[in-house]
Amino acid sequence: MPQPKNVKSELYHEVPSVDRSLNTPWIARLIEQEGRAPVVEAVRTVLSRIRTEIAQGHLADRESVRRAIGHLDDAVTQQLRAAMEFSLKRVINATGVILHTNLGRAPLCETALQRIHEVARVYSNLEFNLGKGERGKRDVHAERLFSRLLNQNGVSDVKTVVVNNCAAAVLLALNTLAEGGEVIVSRGELVEIGGSFRVPEVMTKSGAVLREVGTTNRTRIEDYERAINENTRLLLRVHRSNFAIIGFTEQPSLEALAALGRKHGIPLMEDLGGGALVPMRRFGIDEGGVLESLRAGVDLVTYSGDKLLGGPQAGMLSGRPELIGRIRSNPLFRALRVDKLTYAALEGTLIEYLRQTHQEIPTVQMMALPATSIRDRAMAMIEQLKAIPDLSAQVVDGFSLIGGGTAPSATLPTFLIAVSINGKSADELSRCLRNADPPIVARVEEGKVLLDLRTVFDRDEIFIGNAFTKLSMAKTEIAAAESS
Ligand SMILES: *Cc1c(COP(=O)(O)O)cnc(C)c1O
Repeated sequence: MPQPKNVKSELYHEVPSVDRSLNTPWIARLIEQEGRAPVVEAVRTVLSRIRTEIAQGHLADRESVRRAIGHLDDAVTQQLRAAMEFSLKRVINATGVILHTNLGRAPLCETALQRIHEVARVYSNLEFNLGKGERGKRDVHAERLFSRLLNQNGVSDVKTVVVNNCAAAVLLALNTLAEGGEVIVSRGELVEIGGSFRVPEVMTKSGAVLREVGTTNRTRIEDYERAINENTRLLLRVHRSNFAIIGFTEQPSLEALAALGRKHGIPLMEDLGGGALVPMRRFGIDEGGVLESLRAGVDLVTYSGDKLLGGPQAGMLSGRPELIGRIRSNPLFRALRVDKLTYAALEGTLIEYLRQTHQEIPTVQMMALPATSIRDRAMAMIEQLKAIPDLSAQVVDGFSLIGGGTAPSATLPTFLIAVSINGKSADELSRCLRNADPPIVARVEEGKVLLDLRTVFDRDEIFIGNAFTKLSMAKTEIAAAESS
């Protein structure tokens, strides 16, 4: 019922001023902990919310206004917590997508974290040559380890530079090697990677002209050869990340393309995206790696740091010294460079490959996990979940995804936990899980919430059990409140 104005003004009178509210021992303690300005802001927000509720008639009598004022301390604490919360926070990835672009791709290995910790809190030789005591170059840091990893098995003289991500690496390479000239690409490789990275558009921005050859499903070596003219600067192969062309298809081998390039004095570049440093076939995944491309005769390979390599976000350009030299002296290189944290994390990740201890890298470890051990963990978790009233859970078989620009067919057999709670839809349940602390991101398929423990760290399993227990407790409380 609408209230007469004079009553409302009486209600406003009940609301204390900001100054008076600040004068309670509880608020004083908060100010000590969090600083005055954020607390004042929180008090102001809460008081103005109460006034709005009076205005809208939600707080319609003296009794309820006084009750709201009585809870001021709690409300301010909550408001303060929400306002001071970090935006970027940890989540539990129960989707089974190992390189989930929306969830930050690769979690870093311990050595990478140690390197960041050691280098970031103090000064470093980022651009200082300790031997000569003079200014040095930042790009020497990861270069040493990349050289040792890539110059083997018939590959020699490969140099590497690092930029902000693979998209930047492609832009920089095209701009350096082909600005004002033509780049030949198969029509079957004019890829769009998520987040608006599209090969034709990057090409335009680089100042190079795209020369499409072949058809969507079939491109032959003769198609490339016919397109070569005096303006051709580069042959480009783009990895078919995130899609597959099956059926009546043809694509020349990298070896054939490299031979064609050599014959005409035109370099061959491959945008690999994934950039594995260990053979993926070992895990049953049909993906070539950086070494394989170099061995096939590719002159320049671009790849990501946080995809199959399992390190920090970065984009690598590995290839012939002459090409890398030109890339280094492009002013764009300065604009796309990476910071010391990236070098630290990258070195910490690469050293694991060099030591042959790459199973220490979380994403590599997840790829290597046998489905049976995931089943055992899923079974154990189900035992725990069974105790929760109204919850039903079972183990079903399914697939984990590699993600991060590997083919959609790059899957690994796994076991999933299918969960439901009486009276809650799968979408509601998955929203509740996302609201847990830490948030849990699961899959929803065919009306079911599915959890894949392949991407959940052992130490985090406890959070999943806790989240379900809490959910069911909240549900019981609501039910009790409704029936009373
Ligand atoms: C993922 C991918 C990119 C973009 O890599 P970012 O590191 O995300 O910038 C470029 N090319 C290919 C083929 C890719 O798979």
